[in-house]
Amino acid sequence: MTPPVRGPLPRPDYASLTRYTPDRRAVPVDLSDNTNLWGTHPAALEAIRSAGTDALARYPHLYADDLRAAVARLHGVTSEHVATGCGSDDVLDSLWRALAEDGGAVTYAAPTFSMVEPLSQMNGREARAVAWSRALADPDLLLEGDPVMVYVCRPNNPTGHQAPEAWVAELLGRVEDDGPVVLIDEAYADFAGETLIPTAVEHPRALVVRTLSKAYGLAGLRVGYAVGSKALVGEVEKSRGPYKVNRLAEVAACAALADEDGWVQRTIAECLENRERLVAALRSRSEAPLPSASNFVLLPVAAGTAVPTALALRERGVAVRPFPDCIDVGDAVRVTVGPWPLMEQFLEAWDSLER
Ligand SMILES: *Cc1c(COP(=O)(O)O)cnc(C)c1O
Repeated sequence: MTPPVRGPLPRPDYASLTRYTPDRRAVPVDLSDNTNLWGTHPAALEAIRSAGTDALARYPHLYADDLRAAVARLHGVTSEHVATGCGSDDVLDSLWRALAEDGGAVTYAAPTFSMVEPLSQMNGREARAVAWSRALADPDLLLEGDPVMVYVCRPNNPTGHQAPEAWVAELLGRVEDDGPVVLIDEAYADFAGETLIPTAVEHPRALVVRTLSKAYGLAGLRVGYAVGSKALVGEVEKSRGPYKVNRLAEVAACAALADEDGWVQRTIAECLENRERLVAALRSRSEAPLPSASNFVLLPVAAGTAVPTALALRERGVAVRPFPDCIDVGDAVRVTVGPWPLMEQFLEAWDSLER
């Protein structure tokens, strides 16, 4: 236990904030964090290898303009619609910071990305969960109490569910031009093959956030971006500040986004194939994995057994992420999909669990 700080620190709303502490001990088969288990983009590695002295000795571009241009090219927009950051967490944090004055809640469809609560707390905002089951039936629930922001993850982590495009359109249709920002986190959209970027460019209050940590295999470099209206993107850039994307990350990300040899598309295709194989293998064992539009599968387990199941799998050399008492689902474990030999090791460990 760290002793409490004396004097005026910490900010009162920081008192209950803790460090992010998922179980990250090394394990032979790590299926716990949804990164690309095929490795990283070869073109990104090559770009890093051939970067010269200036990439380290000099400051990077102020606002990563090469990366903004690469993102803009990929999505058929102009650079003014693109903001970047040190991982999409940094982009999210910049947006949270940029929003309105103190107060004002963030609502989110739950269960979802575990950073929504701490990001809200760090930025002095209350986060309010609305169960996905209720939000899907009535998107107005996410707008109750005049929130400053609505967070929607699509496809959703950890369920893998892809909210229908018509549902998002309905939600956005109810948001006035001075209403809450609707943040659509598309960390896994590369796997779903569908994006709301064209919608975000048109709607003054919608913003899509993406990451290179998952499909692009660059989690270690920390690169993320947002696409939306020029005005909203401009606010994120101001709040983010200069020099957030380092030069090595920028050259590697540009090379990966160009995907000239199709590495990203190939690993995504294999991932989707293995996901269906894994789902079929689990169903044949009478399990009921949730349908997923992403590179992971959420697998419900008996009440109270998510954490013990994850620990037992870890003892067998396989890490998965436990979700105890998850809204709408109950206890579950989330399994990242990777090359088939890893899936076989998972299934072997699964079959050896005592039940
Ligand atoms: C992994 C993940 C991110 C984090 O991405 P970084 O770019 O690595 O910060 C953001 N959102 C969701 C939903 C994620 O699962």
